[in-house]
Amino acid sequence: MKIAVYSARPHDRAFLGRENARHGHQLVYIESHLSPLTAPLAEGFPAVCLFVNDHADAETLRILAAGGTRFLVLRCAGFNQVDLEAAANLGMTVVRVPAYSPHAVAEHAVALILTLNRKTHRAWNRVREGNFSLDGLLGFDLAGKTVGVVGTGRIGCTFARIMQGFGCRVVATDPAEDPGLREAGVTYVTFEALLADADIISLHCPLTPETHHLVNGLAISRMKTGAMLINTSRGAVVDANALIQGLKSEKIGHVGLDVYEEEDALFFEDLSNHVIHDDVFARLTTFPNVLITGHQAFFTDTALARIAETTFGNIHCLEQGLSCPNAVTHPD
Ligand code: NAD
Repeated sequence: MKIAVYSARPHDRAFLGRENARHGHQLVYIESHLSPLTAPLAEGFPAVCLFVNDHADAETLRILAAGGTRFLVLRCAGFNQVDLEAAANLGMTVVRVPAYSPHAVAEHAVALILTLNRKTHRAWNRVREGNFSLDGLLGFDLAGKTVGVVGTGRIGCTFARIMQGFGCRVVATDPAEDPGLREAGVTYVTFEALLADADIISLHCPLTPETHHLVNGLAISRMKTGAMLINTSRGAVVDANALIQGLKSEKIGHVGLDVYEEEDALFFEDLSNHVIHDDVFARLTTFPNVLITGHQAFFTDTALARIAETTFGNIHCLEQGLSCPNAVTHPD
């Protein structure tokens, strides 16, 4: 099948290319994001392969459908970038990679926590400059702290168990509770109770209309003073302006972000020679207690190999007209 692969980076070529050696599809790599401007490039391609910052809105989908595209093959778990209603109306099938390595994302959340707490990134710079002062590097023991997990699906569950290994008490909130996690000693509470109780809050819920700006000014006001917030889910789950206010008032002690609401204008590009026009993002980078990574939590060799494997499995189902277990349907 002819497949247009949008937002293609060298690692996409490497992992998709290697897996495709067993399938023999015709892959055409397009570096640009999918948008109404770039959608005409897929004319004549029955399938397009998308990543997190491609925009499959109604206008884009209409252009793709007019060019003969029937399949939207997401090589990621989240599908908030696709207008599912428009896709359904155009008779397009959407498939995704629901799980590839929950460990990759959960472990990255832990990396953010450890770095923010023990300030290894700042210590590394200091030691290279011959500055062995410990001023400003004071951390805290994780053992005995309360960690709040928002969303205990695949990633949140994995994260919760890792934090229990550090000797943390774990509380969680999720409309669908995980009995195994409850048996392992995790207490389910309301979102409000979690905010009031947790020393570290880690977000692992999907971005939906209900979770959009879930962490807003009100939520921040309910947190413990000095709490740490970690977001590896989706940027818009957090109101970045409210976050800045929370940091300035010192209500929030630390922030670790792997995702940002307006990240599609920034992440996955080398902008080191450009002026950053996003003042909110720029302000966030000025705080000493904020650590931002550019949507790299998924980025392990295990995860990329599984993404490629599942993506071609999904394509096989679509090509053969089989029902695909990883299809995403519009809830109606
Ligand atoms: P999942 O579907 O297994 O789990 C999500 C959980 O969130 C579910 O249990 C669901 O019931 C719960 N949830 C939904 N609404 C909620 C709410 N309002 N409050 C609390 N919980 C709620 O998904 P997953 O595989 O664990 O992934 C979680 C999210 O992580 C994805 O949706 C995606 O946005 C993000 N993600 C980020 C990266 C990255 O590289 N940073 C990579 C993969 C996934």
